[in-house]
Amino acid sequence: MTTHIQLPVIPTEQPAEREQPLVVACEESADAQALPALVEWRAREGSALEAHRPLHAGAERADQIPREYALMSQAELDERIAQARATLGERVVILGHHYQRDEIIKYADARGDSFKLAQFAATKKAADYILFCGVHFMAESADILSDARQQVILPNPAAGCSMADMANIAEVEELWTILDDLYRDETSAEAGAAGEGQPQPIIPITYMNSAANLKAFCGRNGGIVCTSSNAEQVMAWAFARGRRVLFFPDEHLGRNTALKMGIAPERIVVWNQRRDFGDIADEQLLIDAQVILWKGWCSTHQRFSPEQIAEARERFPGVRVVVHPECNHETVMAADLNGSTEYIIRVIEQSPAETVWAVGTEINLVKRLAREHPDKTIFCLDPIVCPCSTMYRIHPAYLAWVLEELVAGRVVNRVMVDGETARWAKVALERMLATKGA
Ligand code: SF4
Repeated sequence: MTTHIQLPVIPTEQPAEREQPLVVACEESADAQALPALVEWRAREGSALEAHRPLHAGAERADQIPREYALMSQAELDERIAQARATLGERVVILGHHYQRDEIIKYADARGDSFKLAQFAATKKAADYILFCGVHFMAESADILSDARQQVILPNPAAGCSMADMANIAEVEELWTILDDLYRDETSAEAGAAGEGQPQPIIPITYMNSAANLKAFCGRNGGIVCTSSNAEQVMAWAFARGRRVLFFPDEHLGRNTALKMGIAPERIVVWNQRRDFGDIADEQLLIDAQVILWKGWCSTHQRFSPEQIAEARERFPGVRVVVHPECNHETVMAADLNGSTEYIIRVIEQSPAETVWAVGTEINLVKRLAREHPDKTIFCLDPIVCPCSTMYRIHPAYLAWVLEELVAGRVVNRVMVDGETARWAKVALERMLATKGA
């Protein structure tokens, strides 16, 4: 285990109440509970979280919080957050991912995607504490990029990313060993014939949405990290050094990027880690492949479809459709534009008044864009909208709790990446920063 979380301590004065489910009303959620128990969340997420697949460290303590915070009204939470924030001053910086609800975003010193926020945090040297209102892998990245004395806090340790949880180090190393065996002849022939300077048989690329130990795996094995903004540049970097790419954990971002770069569909294979030998019929497929994709996905972005786009075009002639590249390839092809959350924000901001936008990304961001650009019509492609259920686990109650603990001199829900993992993860991140356009 390479990551550690300081888990919340639940007061013992009310033992009878500790087993009660915590229910926090939330206007924006269609769900009965804004803070579902992990077991319910797992059931809702279905096959995305199979039993044998461990979640990030700390997730087993889902949604634990002192009961008094869970029962506070929004008005009281607001007051207590503001008070604690004022008391802590510059000692704390609060980061809010674009997919966070407005009740959280309004307290954020910066909002952005995961990498932008981690970079912002790295400039805030005066802050002792970085409160990352996002998900676990983002807090890990902030810990890797911040100073050693700074402490990174994830208000609710259960806020993971279901896609990131679909790849773990044991499974990736197992595949790596298989590939190493398979490509050994290439390596030894090259070593004998030409020696150094020959392309590697395969280069690992991990999406930013992955655990720190997977980023470290890439750092140690000549690989690199990518974001949805720079996946193409990063893949070009990898092909300048290797014959093949292993891309994890998002199958869809990997496929969309590879196809955009002109890689033939038959040279792209999917390794299904849930099946024997990845569900690969013949190992020759792995030898002939240029890109091997991990079978992971984002349940939020998989909700969007070409049918929704066709319907939007019928209802709003002239509508522009922009989607995130975590959507499946058919949806990306049916859209007018695709790109990262930062890209989506930028194209909508720069578009003329009166334009109409159908957007395929997380609902909190789409609603915020609609509110901030009243001169444009902006709506979500999915009529049955649902927030990212993992991002949604950062409720203002958690923010109030961790801030008041800091005021009292206690740090709860800290996310720490051990030194060795952080060192190699940073190597992979720095390779990304050195690529053109990162
Ligand atoms: S939107 Fe998808 S990729 Fe992003 S945090 Fe949620 S589950 Fe993970």
